[in-house]
Amino acid sequence: MRELFLRCRKCGSEYPMQNIYLCNACQGILEVQYNYSAVTQDSIMHHSHVRGIWRFHSFLPVLHDNNKVSLGEGDTPLIIADNLAPLNSCCSIFLKLESLNPSGSFKDRPVAVGVSKAKEFGAKGVLIASSGNASASAAAYAARVGMRCVVCIPQSTDIGKVSQAVSHGAEVVYVEGTFSNSFEIAKTASQYCGWPNVSTTFINPYTVEGDKTLAYEIYLQLNCVVPDIVIVPVGAGPLLVGMAKGFAELKYLNLTKKIPRMVGVQSTQCAPIAEAYDQHIEQVQPWLKPIKTVATGIADPLVGYEDDGSLTLKTIIETGGIAIALSEEEILAANRKLHVQVGVYAEPTAAVAIGALERLAEVNLIGESETVVCIITGHGLKYNSNIAYRPPVVSGFDEFVKMIKFDS
Ligand SMILES: *Cc1c(COP(=O)(O)O)cnc(C)c1O
Ligand SMILES: [Zn+2]
Repeated sequence: MRELFLRCRKCGSEYPMQNIYLCNACQGILEVQYNYSAVTQDSIMHHSHVRGIWRFHSFLPVLHDNNKVSLGEGDTPLIIADNLAPLNSCCSIFLKLESLNPSGSFKDRPVAVGVSKAKEFGAKGVLIASSGNASASAAAYAARVGMRCVVCIPQSTDIGKVSQAVSHGAEVVYVEGTFSNSFEIAKTASQYCGWPNVSTTFINPYTVEGDKTLAYEIYLQLNCVVPDIVIVPVGAGPLLVGMAKGFAELKYLNLTKKIPRMVGVQSTQCAPIAEAYDQHIEQVQPWLKPIKTVATGIADPLVGYEDDGSLTLKTIIETGGIAIALSEEEILAANRKLHVQVGVYAEPTAAVAIGALERLAEVNLIGESETVVCIITGHGLKYNSNIAYRPPVVSGFDEFVKMIKFDS
């Protein structure tokens, strides 16, 4: 039986599962390979008492049970929200509430795997560059195992996310410039000190594996059917690519015949992948224009690691999906819709999945009676910049009842 190993997505070079990042031969992105012939449908369908992502351990790269770090991530609700269906469409809309993970975003899935792997490598600490959520997550999981956690983030990061990281005892440093500058420092620092880099781009080959568990969960929650379309907010895109890999594994196991069309959504303020899609070019270009967006979680200009974007674009196209970008107005309107018409509190980044629905209907990408899953990637409690409204003040009941007008 062949054990797990790493393979370069570009040149095919193979490596044992070590604390390594890009391919030594060609700098390509590394991917974990499994001994698929040894895994059966049971690894998805049958679970003992284990809950959350670790019940899918046959498809995760952590070898020893006592290295699996958990805060109860995964097993998030899949709720129906058909009132979000675009006009004149009778598709079913489901929301996967990744905002309800332990640290409030889906990043707990990749980071749980990344920190577990760091433990397996005997690391004293982890490094991470993040647009906010991944650092909150890394700080929490590092605290869980008693490791140091050093965080590089842009100064524009939502303060709610920064306070999470600081509260968990992470050593947080603001790096001037965009996310790409933070990324560069974390990468260089990891080479310097040898600590694993758990940044959730494609640089760490293990973290993306955690994202696959979303695909397995959705399949099980839809009573063993894969959806027709999955809509994903996309930065570099490991979430989208990881989910597509998860669905492909379900297909390999004969649990499904089809793979959903994966839709990647960006902000027009930072849309390297959507732009390449529009221009029909395979190679994604770094985003060099200034960025000002409420969707900070997906504001990744990919400077220095454009190949990450190309991999995501390739995956989108292979599944028959599309990449789109939404304006700030569209993102905020989608966020309000989610808050007011569904009752789900999410950060604007997560709401782009909702904003995409209308656009998909316009381009006829949603067929009659298809099933659509929107990934609600992060919680609204982390995003504190939208509280402009000041509630009115009353001194007693008379004033109160006049104001509320119960009989209207
Ligand atoms: C990180 C993040 C994303 C983007 O995920 P990638 O895997 O980096 O593409 C989307 N939404 C939120 C809330 C995030 O924090
Ligand atoms: Zn290579």
